[in-house]
Amino acid sequence: MRLADRMNNLGTETAFDCLCRAKALECTMDVVHLEIGEPDFDTPKHIREAAKRAIDEGYTHYGPSAGLPELRAAIAEYAGKLRGVHFTPEQVVVTPGGKPVMAFAIMALVEEGDEVIYPNPGFPIYESMIEYMGGTAVPIRLREDKDFRLDAEELASLVNPRTKLIVINSPCNPTGGVLTKDDLKLIAETAVKHNVWVLSDEIYSEILYDGVFESIVQNADVRERLIILDGFSKTYAMTGWRIGYGIMPPKMADMLARIQTNTNSCTATFTQRACLDALRGPREEVNRMLAEFKRRRDLIVEGLNNLRGFRCKLPAGAFYAFPNVEGTGLDCKVLAHRLLEEQGVACLAGTCFGKYGNGFLRFSYANSIENIGKALEKTEQLLKQI
Ligand code: PLP
Repeated sequence: MRLADRMNNLGTETAFDCLCRAKALECTMDVVHLEIGEPDFDTPKHIREAAKRAIDEGYTHYGPSAGLPELRAAIAEYAGKLRGVHFTPEQVVVTPGGKPVMAFAIMALVEEGDEVIYPNPGFPIYESMIEYMGGTAVPIRLREDKDFRLDAEELASLVNPRTKLIVINSPCNPTGGVLTKDDLKLIAETAVKHNVWVLSDEIYSEILYDGVFESIVQNADVRERLIILDGFSKTYAMTGWRIGYGIMPPKMADMLARIQTNTNSCTATFTQRACLDALRGPREEVNRMLAEFKRRRDLIVEGLNNLRGFRCKLPAGAFYAFPNVEGTGLDCKVLAHRLLEEQGVACLAGTCFGKYGNGFLRFSYANSIENIGKALEKTEQLLKQI
């Protein structure tokens, strides 16, 4: 098979490999799934009903590449309110999941020799797509002693004339860390000063436990070079529906829509109609889910901190705990492997999220209180044998 050389640069998301192995093990043992990053709740009923209605109403055809006008307008209004700014529908591109915004933004901006600064530990697809497009992925370390925020001075020191793009993610996968208003201001200033684009991955914008959500878009100067990624997957438990969106300057939105015409044409139209109901409908189920995530966060973080050799920061957002496990004396990859194979606890080694994830594990607490309790007990059992 003779593939394009660039295929050698394409990485992957190892959470899916771990899920595959964990599913295979389930034939012989009980497995607690804390590896995959998706809410374990059902999509709220009114959204499901809206999708069924939309199919019956004939929303089964192609739609405009940038998204249905009514949904682009609703997203502009909703996302603007959440961030305290004004967006227009022309700034919005609806995509099949939030992930395509990441890929399309990098495709639109990055060429051979360009550098892109991205968070590490961070979502593995940033590095993968940057390298795939021939760019150089330059990690900025998220520091445990700064509650997994980045150091804005260090960021400024990494920027040079080849820097094309800075990727940020707050609340963050895998650390649960949140950037402060001051951090965002400094990042925006750096981007403006050096004429660099920013991709702000805000997919967890509404999975936040304390305070209000801060977006870099609140810094007006950065807006002309800013692409925001958000979507429905996490907030509305809609991972399998595949719908998300990007918000950016209208000219860039035209470019992303053109890439979409060239790749997947459009996002499914009945799911877009259902998302109108997600944005405008009742919030009770979403609020219940968030309250439950908070309960689980408190339980798992306390439990992890009681384990020998573990120490875990309290994550302010998303649904991941990211304990430092260096005190166990085991390599984090070995520990993750033994937890799965010997105890049936599926979690990810921090290195799945880049080199600065070494020494950590990621537990997704999108699972029941009962299962989280089981996972903690089983982890303790393994630690007794070490
Ligand atoms: N960005 C981050 C940080 C994520 O964790 C994820 C999913 O896990 C995505 C983007 C992609 O979201 P979607 O499932 O909507 O494509």
